[in-house]
Amino acid sequence: MKIGFIGLGNMGAPMAANLARDHEVTGFDPVAQPTGLTLAPSAAAAAQDADVVITMLPDGNILRTVAAELHPAMKQGAIHLDCSTVDVDSARTVAAQAIAHGLYAIDAPVSGGIGGATNGTLTFMAGGPLPAFETVAPLFAIMGQKAVHCGAAGNGQAAKICNNMILGVTMIATCEAFALADKLGLDRQAMFDVVSTSSGASWSMTSYCPAPGIGPVSPADNGYQPGFAAELMLKDLRLSQQAAEAAQADTPLGQAATALYARFVETEDGRGKDFSAMLPRFETRQRP
Ligand code: NAD
Repeated sequence: MKIGFIGLGNMGAPMAANLARDHEVTGFDPVAQPTGLTLAPSAAAAAQDADVVITMLPDGNILRTVAAELHPAMKQGAIHLDCSTVDVDSARTVAAQAIAHGLYAIDAPVSGGIGGATNGTLTFMAGGPLPAFETVAPLFAIMGQKAVHCGAAGNGQAAKICNNMILGVTMIATCEAFALADKLGLDRQAMFDVVSTSSGASWSMTSYCPAPGIGPVSPADNGYQPGFAAELMLKDLRLSQQAAEAAQADTPLGQAATALYARFVETEDGRGKDFSAMLPRFETRQRP
C-alpha cells in the first residue's frame, strides 16, 4: 500500500517507521524530521497517490485544519485513518467531510503509549465503515497487537475517552487508598497482595502499581518519569467531560478526576510526571 503519514511526533514517527518496513510511506511534519523516512514538503504532497493517509496529531482543531488540506488532495476512494486522540465531534465532522470528498474515514485512537508505538504493540479502537476498517486491518497488525471495530464514525474516540475516564478514576482511587493505608499503618506490600487479587483490583493496581517497589515494574520505580504523563491524562479526561456535557451524561467521578488532574498539572507539581504520581501527592496531604 502507498501510505501518507502526517504528524511524526513521539507516537507518529515510530508508527510510520514500523509501516515503512513493509509499505511505501511518505511522511510530513512541520517540525519533526525523523531520519530513515521519505518526507514530503506538505501534508497534501504526502497524501497524493496514497491509498491510506494516517494522521497522528495533537488535537481536534489541528486535525480539522490538516483534514481540510488533505481531503481535496487525496485520490477518490482513499482512506483517511486518524489515530490521534481528539474530541468525538471533530472525529465525526472530519469523517463527514471525507465522505463529501469521495473518501472513507476511520477514527482509530490508540492505547499503549510510546513504548507500544515503538514495539508495534498498540491497541486500536476504531469507528467508521467496516469495509474500510478491514482494508486498513493489515496496517493495524503492523503497528499494534489488537484492533477493535467499535461502530460508526467517532465511536473509536468514544471508546478511548470512556476507557481513559475509567483509568483516571481508578488511578486516583488506588493512590488515595495507598495513602490511607500508610496512615493506618498497613504495609504497602500487604495492601497490594490483598487488593490485587480482591474486588478492589484494577489495571491501575495490578499492571501499573503507583507504589514504588511493589507489584510489576512501573513508572513509580523510575521516579515517576512518564510513562503516561499527567497532562495527557488531563487532556483525555477533559475530552471525556466535553463529550459527557454534549451528550447530557452524568459522570460525577469523571468530573472529579478531571478537576483533580487539572489541579495537579496546572497549580501543583504534576506537569512532566507520570499520571501515577498522584500517590506522592496524596502522601503529603492532610484531609481538608
Ligand atoms: P507529539 O506532540 O509528539 O506529536 C504531534 C506531532 O504533530 C508533532 O510532531 C507536531 O509537529 C505535529 N503537527 C502539529 N501540527 C501539525 C500540522 N498542522 N501538520 C502536520 N503535523 C503537525 O504528540 P504524540 O505524543 O505523538 O501524540 C499524538 C497523538 O497521540 C495525540 O492526539 C495524543 O493524545 C495521542 N496519544 C499519545 C500517547 C502518548 O503516550 N504520547 C498515547 C496515546 C495517544
